[in-house]
Amino acid sequence: MSYDKDNIFAKILRGEIPCDKVFENEHSLAFNDISPQAKIHVLVIPKGAYKDIDDFCTNASEEEIIGFTKAVSEVFKITGVSESKGGKGFRALANTGSDGSQEVPHFHLHVMGGEALGLRGLRKN
Ligand code: AMP
Repeated sequence: MSYDKDNIFAKILRGEIPCDKVFENEHSLAFNDISPQAKIHVLVIPKGAYKDIDDFCTNASEEEIIGFTKAVSEVFKITGVSESKGGKGFRALANTGSDGSQEVPHFHLHVMGGEALGLRGLRKN
């Protein structure tokens, strides 16, 4: 399946709809999930048109991959979940394709934390 340029995260990147921004760099944007499943629930997305993590890891440039990884690291620090900064850890996951129950077809990494998560985020309610 090709990239759908009208998906909701593409619209956020074009500034057509707002987001609650947490962090941004040249290649990535992080914002709070509109329907959080934990006290902290941030989505980190590349600015490039990649439909899922497989597409991103396969086709993104080294600069995009580095920029995305640095954005993820910043989100761990900004939200206070990083154990290296005194936080208590987190869950980071990327739902992918139909078996992974991915709803928005633009790669996004969920970062959840701020409380004990149990199985939250691993299954749909
Ligand atoms: P997934 O099932 O991994 O594709 O998850 C998509 C996520 O995007 C869900 O957690 C939604 O709550 C979230 N989401 C959908 N629309 C928005 C939006 N406009 N702003 C922020 N998060 C959104």
